[in-house]
Amino acid sequence: MILLELDKISKNFTDFKAVNQVSFKVNEGSIFGLIGPNGAGKTTTIRMIVNIIMPDSGQIKFLGEEIVPDQIGYLPEVRGLYKKMYVEELLLFMAKLKSMKTKEAKEQIDYWLKKLNISDWRRKKIEELSKGMQQKIQFITTLLHKPKLLILDEPFGGLDPINTNLIKDIILELKESGTTIIFSTHVMESAEKICDDILLINKGVVILCGKLSEVKKNFKKHNVLIAYDGSDDFIKKSTEIEKFNNYGHYVELQLKQGGNAQRILEQAVQDKVVIQKFEIKEPSLNEIFMEAVGTDKNGGGNYE
Ligand code: ADP
Ligand code: MG
Repeated sequence: MILLELDKISKNFTDFKAVNQVSFKVNEGSIFGLIGPNGAGKTTTIRMIVNIIMPDSGQIKFLGEEIVPDQIGYLPEVRGLYKKMYVEELLLFMAKLKSMKTKEAKEQIDYWLKKLNISDWRRKKIEELSKGMQQKIQFITTLLHKPKLLILDEPFGGLDPINTNLIKDIILELKESGTTIIFSTHVMESAEKICDDILLINKGVVILCGKLSEVKKNFKKHNVLIAYDGSDDFIKKSTEIEKFNNYGHYVELQLKQGGNAQRILEQAVQDKVVIQKFEIKEPSLNEIFMEAVGTDKNGGGNYE
């Protein structure tokens, strides 16, 4: 079932197209990665979903209707909490804003403080906490009311590797329990590990969208790793190869667009080369990203 649907959403800031005809669908119970370089339009897109800014054109539908704010948990990119409040007091206050009953709110607060290894700090003031801890508290505020949809804008920004992993695990657990999660990131490794679907956006325009596994499969430039014994003529002769790095008995090569790895293998067999290993390596999301975005030297800007 489709939980959220954006249909040709656009947003201009004066004459600048921050988001340009962006469409995508988010399936219920999935993890959706909104990825792209700085300035791509991720935050602007998210702000339109959570109703902070209005799109100039296009439609956003949540279960076919207008967004119901209580069903969304939102972690903004620019974090900010009331610094003078105590951790527990603040969490309770935020829970009340989401119409939670005190008993349930307290149970949830206990649960999440423990889960995020931050229980010892519950009676401290926010300003006494490190940035990372404050971020964890803000993350909790987005979850307390058990939203159907969780939208996290750069959730790993400013976290150390241990806490990044902790948040990543919680995102996966939340998915298991039926929560739909949209998160934005410019760090491909984070997205690669946990996303079911991705949308790659650059300069406000969608470049790639779909199931991560499909995106990888359809990405033309596959790398092939071959361990072999014999002449390397089958590599030199091949018309399938864009470039290669030969180490004598081991070659790493990149196929041409539309190149067929099978033909390389056939040639090797014909040449009586002994193949010890033949691996077609899927491109990493980072490679896809660099290929799609990295070659563009104009930087982030889409003026008309
Ligand atoms: P991302 O989150 O992908 O890094 P943003 O959505 O924050 O990108 O920004 C996209 C572009 O829109 C950027 O070039 C940014 O400078 C511009 N932008 C964002 N918000 C505003 C605004 N309120 N006024 C003018 N320009 C903005
Ligand atoms: Mg952003």
